[in-house]
Amino acid sequence: MSDALVEIDDLKVHFPIKSGLLFDRTVGHVYAVDGVSLKVRRGETYGLVGESGCGKSTLGRGLLRLVEPTSGTITFDGTDVRSLKGEEMRLFRRRIQMVFQDPLASLDPRQSVESLLVEGLKAHGLHKDKAAMRTRLRSTLDSVGLPASALNRYPHEFSGGQRQRIGIARALVLGPELIVADEPVSALDVSIQAQVVNLLGDLQDSLGLTYLVIAHDLAVVRHISDTIGVMYLGSLVEEADGDQLYERPLHPYTRALLSAVPIPDPQVEDRRERILLVGDLPSPAAPPSGCRFRTRCPWSQSRCVEERPELRVFDDSGQRVACHFAEEILDGSLRMHEVRAEIVRPGQDTPPEIGAGLIPT
Ligand code: SF4
Repeated sequence: MSDALVEIDDLKVHFPIKSGLLFDRTVGHVYAVDGVSLKVRRGETYGLVGESGCGKSTLGRGLLRLVEPTSGTITFDGTDVRSLKGEEMRLFRRRIQMVFQDPLASLDPRQSVESLLVEGLKAHGLHKDKAAMRTRLRSTLDSVGLPASALNRYPHEFSGGQRQRIGIARALVLGPELIVADEPVSALDVSIQAQVVNLLGDLQDSLGLTYLVIAHDLAVVRHISDTIGVMYLGSLVEEADGDQLYERPLHPYTRALLSAVPIPDPQVEDRRERILLVGDLPSPAAPPSGCRFRTRCPWSQSRCVEERPELRVFDDSGQRVACHFAEEILDGSLRMHEVRAEIVRPGQDTPPEIGAGLIPT
């Protein structure tokens, strides 16, 4: 049995841009996900990070076929997900559940917690044995730290953290193997975030769950991920074991992101250099030729304009990077064009908006 629960190969999700009053013509595409390949191993947490608009949420939704991929393959536990139809797909969905960013928006305020949890069970015909269903609801609530009395209450009666626990319970009640958590803590107060992150970790240990966590907060992703993938403009630009990525970021985009994360050691913090990227994320409807990152990359060369770098294995560590010049950047033999980035040297002040560990959204 393969240790990969999910294998995604060359996945593309392109949305057509339509125009015209009489005839609906396709005048272009938004290349939301543009050739992503990755594996999520059983029992691990795969953290996917990137700026808003980089395609990370679309990738998560494409995996569940909530948006239909344009091409590529998705294999879940040996099943070709894209070939599933109708009833097969409906039954399959039980094995993958989603936790959303904003629990208030994703929970219908007119439904009690019981009704919210039973909805999924009904969809899969698991509600007929009433006694077994009630036992299941209570044990699910217990596993997320909520009392059985919560069943008769409504989402607005709970705090933000408790509402996210209800969102997690709704995903868990169907007994999934994979949970796709899209920004699971970013709508919560910082003081509550750690509790929800710890809850996800405890549930993983006790239930053997596999997670795909999508987030723009590098600190959250680092805390919970075994493997981290960095996305930029529809592509995976780097992937590594969590500690390895933080110790040795190879891709210029990852280097810039990590250089903005504060280090809780004032001596290291004072000595290090920060790379502040200049310019906005280009439109995914008109991505640059060659390397997608070349318009913001401080090391860009003429080869980067013509040739799109493949995500390749860098060395025996298994770290993967999509950059033609990762070796030269790492050993310092390729110099940076400072016009492409603002460098904050040791001793200089950092602009206040940088340093929170968050990728701009
Ligand atoms: S391939 Fe070129 S533009 Fe792209 S990240 Fe590497 S150096 Fe920068």
